[in-house]
Amino acid sequence: MARAQSARSENNDDIPIAHRSSPPGGPSNRPLSVLMLVFVVLGALGIALSLTLFPRFRGLGLLLGIQSLPSSDGRLLGHFPYKEVSSQDLISVYPGLKIHKDTFKALRSMRSAASAEGVELILLSGYRSVELQRQIFYGRKSARKQIAIERAKVSAPPGYSEHSTGYAIDLGDGTRRDTDLEVEFESTRAFSWLKENAAKYHFVLSFPKGNSQKVNYEPWHWRFEGTVESLKQFEAANERRRAKEP
Ligand SMILES: [Zn+2]
Repeated sequence: MARAQSARSENNDDIPIAHRSSPPGGPSNRPLSVLMLVFVVLGALGIALSLTLFPRFRGLGLLLGIQSLPSSDGRLLGHFPYKEVSSQDLISVYPGLKIHKDTFKALRSMRSAASAEGVELILLSGYRSVELQRQIFYGRKSARKQIAIERAKVSAPPGYSEHSTGYAIDLGDGTRRDTDLEVEFESTRAFSWLKENAAKYHFVLSFPKGNSQKVNYEPWHWRFEGTVESLKQFEAANERRRAKEP
């Protein structure tokens, strides 16, 4: 009898306090099962978020078919979301190439200053519509057989490209066209000149080496930050840069 008692009390100790405090068999078990359900749902959500948000687990997440979600600062695969420029703010520089009119003004001054020093800056690309970005981003997938994480290092997902703002430009060196859109552009006179002078015209290198967004180094890609509107577009990116880059 005493043994049975003690066995029962031992068993009793194994039951969580929440269970013990509720009278047996009553309808009050219902709140508990609701609580359990909430725990299960929260747990599943936690696992899903870990698989999409943390780079360490992201590959596993993709393997399991879980799509990436934007991270807490709004980025998707490293890139920030951007509002598309309205068409009336765009200027056609040459057929097939438009940029924001404010970018154009600054670029014009920058190019003539460079030219006066014997450096020829070539405008390779500017505004890209979200639709064109979609074609580029998903077109690369089939061409390169890359998963989204790898593609995002070289091209932003649609809606997340600086090029859709009209403020981002890709520049080349007129005497070194073999380095167009290549990392080797960093060895050109144009790049040295830009590093020294671009800031005077409010152009900033978006993806320097080891950037905090973990996007591949792009010495040719510059963004204009010389107006309140352009600064607003890049506020989140600059905030992250200030926080993460020395
Ligand atoms: Zn670019």
